[in-house]
Amino acid sequence: MDELYDKALRLIPLGIEEGVELYTTAPLEELMFVANRLRQLHNPGKIVGWMIDRNVNITNVCFSQCSFCNFCRKKGSEDAYITSTDDYILKINELYSLGGDQLLLQGGMNPSLGLTFYTDLFQKLKKLYPTLKLHALGPPEIVYLAKKERKSYLEVLSELVKAGLDSLPGAGAEILSDRVRNIVSPAKATSEEWLEVMRVAHRLNLPTSATMMYGHIETTKERIEHLIRLRDLQAEKQKNQYGFITFIPWAFQDEGTVLLKKDGIKSSYNGPDYIRMVAISRIILNNIRNIQASILTVGKEIGMLSLHSGANDFGSIMIEENVVSAAGSKNRFNADEMQSIIKESGFVPGRRNQKYETIDPPITPAPLKGD
Ligand code: SF4
Repeated sequence: MDELYDKALRLIPLGIEEGVELYTTAPLEELMFVANRLRQLHNPGKIVGWMIDRNVNITNVCFSQCSFCNFCRKKGSEDAYITSTDDYILKINELYSLGGDQLLLQGGMNPSLGLTFYTDLFQKLKKLYPTLKLHALGPPEIVYLAKKERKSYLEVLSELVKAGLDSLPGAGAEILSDRVRNIVSPAKATSEEWLEVMRVAHRLNLPTSATMMYGHIETTKERIEHLIRLRDLQAEKQKNQYGFITFIPWAFQDEGTVLLKKDGIKSSYNGPDYIRMVAISRIILNNIRNIQASILTVGKEIGMLSLHSGANDFGSIMIEENVVSAAGSKNRFNADEMQSIIKESGFVPGRRNQKYETIDPPITPAPLKGD
């Protein structure tokens, strides 16, 4: 163990077997200690990032019908919708009144909507709200649009950026293993397609995030492989490119999902394992500066412990969120509560923007080794 800790602390990339060994046998308090040291190396000091944004779903119609999703509807369903311009205006006005300026715009993948729908939408929103930031879509949507329009990922992403896309969320990564994806989301982008979209986004210098949705049918080895595939892709980016700004692990929420109802797969989530997952992520991902704890899915106590296990960010207060809440996640925090939780954990809240630049109080992050 000491050799592995030493390697990790010197930012030497760990291999799959080493990662599995740490995950399965290292005492949790030792992992937390090492991950916390690494957090201090990447982000010295006590600032914990948080932000105000709003998650709006463009539509709930999605052909993908992933078996862990309790949000999507089939075309023609009674409660199928496409968000109207009037609804966007109401939601954005509320976002601005609460001090936020970013929309997290997510799917589903509605077969009736093509690239022009998205470019028109982005342009319209940016015209109405010139300071609005759009953190929108994700690799599966880009793959879908590229196939539908017979265009390359580069062409699709470039058109979306021209229309107003500011950053690309790491949605739809689940577990980057085609064995797992063929079972839980066979209609969605393959792991190689997901990574290739991100590779192109990094070349365009579009800020991106990376995620993992774990705790269903994946093995420990597949979790580690997922992290290593992200780390390898991040290693390809040029020093002046954003690449993956952050990594966010979150656990499968099983309520109402096909995976639970039909296949009897319950979420394997438990608090200590989430903390272990956060610590391992910090240790394996030696080239991603920020690790975000998904306080929305794990709640206050586990969120607080995550800040002592390598995480340096709590994400957004999420004025609206529909996908994980449809599958059972009930945690909500307003801006005051979010900051109190960070202080109670022994840290200093630092409100930030999507590029992880702290806007209150302003700080300049120390350069990472190799930057
Ligand atoms: S998780 Fe996303 S891609 Fe999968 S069915 Fe739900 S909305 Fe569609």
